[in-house]
Amino acid sequence: MKVGNNKVVSLVYELREDDANGDLIQKVEKESPFVHLFGVGSLLPAFEHALEGLVAGDSFSFGIPAAGSYGEHNPEVVYTLEKSMFEIDGVVEDGLLEIGNQITMQDQDGNPVDGIVLDVTNEGVVMDFNHPLAGINLYFTGKVLEVRDATAEELAHGHVHGPHGHHH
Ligand code: ZN
Repeated sequence: MKVGNNKVVSLVYELREDDANGDLIQKVEKESPFVHLFGVGSLLPAFEHALEGLVAGDSFSFGIPAAGSYGEHNPEVVYTLEKSMFEIDGVVEDGLLEIGNQITMQDQDGNPVDGIVLDVTNEGVVMDFNHPLAGINLYFTGKVLEVRDATAEELAHGHVHGPHGHHH
C-alpha cells in the first residue's frame, strides 16, 4: 500500500538543518513514531509530496527550503514586551524568562501564540513569534514503518485514532 491521501502513515525520521550533516533539530524513533493521516492539509505540502507513493520499508531523504516550509524569518514579529506582561499576581515565575524558552501568549484577538525568549534587557523581554523553524532549510531522512487505510471515523475527524493518535 502506498503513501497517499487518506492513508495513515507511520514514520521515523531525523530532521536536520540544511543537509544530512546539519545540526539535528528533531529525531523521531520507532518507539514513538510519527503517525499521521495524509491529505488533510495539516502537514507541509512539500513533506507530503516527498513521501507520496512510498511503501512500508522504504527509506527517504529530501530537503525542503525555508521558503517552502515555515517561511523566512520575519523581523516584524520580534517584539520587546514589558516584563509586567509576564507577571502573574505581580510576580514573574522563576525560570520563565530564560533565553530560548517557548512561552504561549495571546494575540490581540485572544488567540494563543507561541513566542521564544530571545533576550531579556532593561527595556523588557525580546520575544520572537516566528515559527521556531522559520528561516531554516529542512532536511529529512527516515523510513516508512507502516501504511494503512484510514477508518471512516478517522476520515470524518481528520486525524488518527488508536495508538499514538488522538482519542476523542
Ligand atoms: Zn477523533
